[in-house]
Amino acid sequence: MDLSTLRSQFPTLAQSNDGYPLCYLDTAATSQKPQLVIDAMNHYYQCDNANVHRAAHQLSARATSQYEAVRDKLKQFINAKQRSEIIFSHGTTESINIVANGLTEQLSQGQLILVDSAAHHANIVPWQQLAKRTGAVVKPIPLTADCRLDLTAYKALLEQQPAIVALSHVSNALGTLNPVHELVALAKQAGALTLVDGAQAIAHLEVDVQALACDFYVFSGHKMYGPTGIGVLYGRFDILDSLRPLLTGGEMIKTVSFEHTEFNSLPNRLEAGTPPIAEVIGLGAAIDFIQALPREQVHAQEQALLNYLQDKLSKLGDIVLYAAHSDNIGAVAFNLADEHHQDVGILLDQQGIAVRCGHHCAMPLMQTLGLKGCCRASIGVYTNKADIDNFIDAMKSVKDLLL
Ligand code: PMP
Repeated sequence: MDLSTLRSQFPTLAQSNDGYPLCYLDTAATSQKPQLVIDAMNHYYQCDNANVHRAAHQLSARATSQYEAVRDKLKQFINAKQRSEIIFSHGTTESINIVANGLTEQLSQGQLILVDSAAHHANIVPWQQLAKRTGAVVKPIPLTADCRLDLTAYKALLEQQPAIVALSHVSNALGTLNPVHELVALAKQAGALTLVDGAQAIAHLEVDVQALACDFYVFSGHKMYGPTGIGVLYGRFDILDSLRPLLTGGEMIKTVSFEHTEFNSLPNRLEAGTPPIAEVIGLGAAIDFIQALPREQVHAQEQALLNYLQDKLSKLGDIVLYAAHSDNIGAVAFNLADEHHQDVGILLDQQGIAVRCGHHCAMPLMQTLGLKGCCRASIGVYTNKADIDNFIDAMKSVKDLLL
């Protein structure tokens, strides 16, 4: 795989900021978009723009067939059993909300919801709200000292027969990888429903939801080289079909009268209103982009680059790395001695380096680590060694300035 040809497909990467070439190390927040994604969305607006599903004219038929073709692509991409198990949402956050809201009638007082301690707020707050509505109880699954999910504590919690187990596939703040196959299998043995948040995994790892055997798997288009405003909720058909719809209105109904509304079947039942059509089409192009890559080679290349980044940072001195395991995916979390993460981020930005600083929407995890926040450098398929070297050089000068 020729990385410079691949990078040339991403127009944003070609810019410089204040004379410094852009060094984009914030892919975990959102990935850059290849030209074919931008072109696919432009093409829809320029040639095929119409609402889907509900008109007799050709434009609408073209828009509908492109929109529904992406559902088929996703079915194949994550190996779902049926196309109706793929629901389009606006992102991971909405996908989890659809599930947590949809289970309201199925949960009762005192039932247990287990949540990964390193989870993103999107995989914590909807469960807390569900608990408030139903009297259920949310308990965090503790972490070990090296920020892995604590298997012993997890097994002990499973003995309390939780109703739901919500896991991250990969932590967005640290990049740590959860052994989700094992965790899901254990949860199933205990009779729990399982949701896996794949927002940080989907661009880096091949996902097979049937092999994983989870009940729900969720992710966002914008973290996998696709557009913002589009997300995916995969659900096992029976459980998906039992969810109370979060949104009601057009498209999700079969018949409406003032006395009674009959809801539509899946997938429409959970897709009320006009969907983000261009975004779905853009996501389809992003899947084409990913599937055209030699995925094993890309994975090996990304792991080598991440390990190089971890190694270079650790050798810089005065750097605190958080849970920098060799099997982490996509991201490195760190602080420079006691310096404020925001100061480090701003000084890096002045040298063209884009990293993310803050609590990374994982405040409970930050509390566990005893931190207000940290910096996170994250990589994508287009990141090269020069990006890492530029970043390390910039960190040296930030260190000289601050320490
Ligand atoms: N979960 C994880 C692990 C994430 O990284 C993110 C995005 N930072 C989300 C959920 C929320 O995704 P979105 O903002 O696209 O809904």
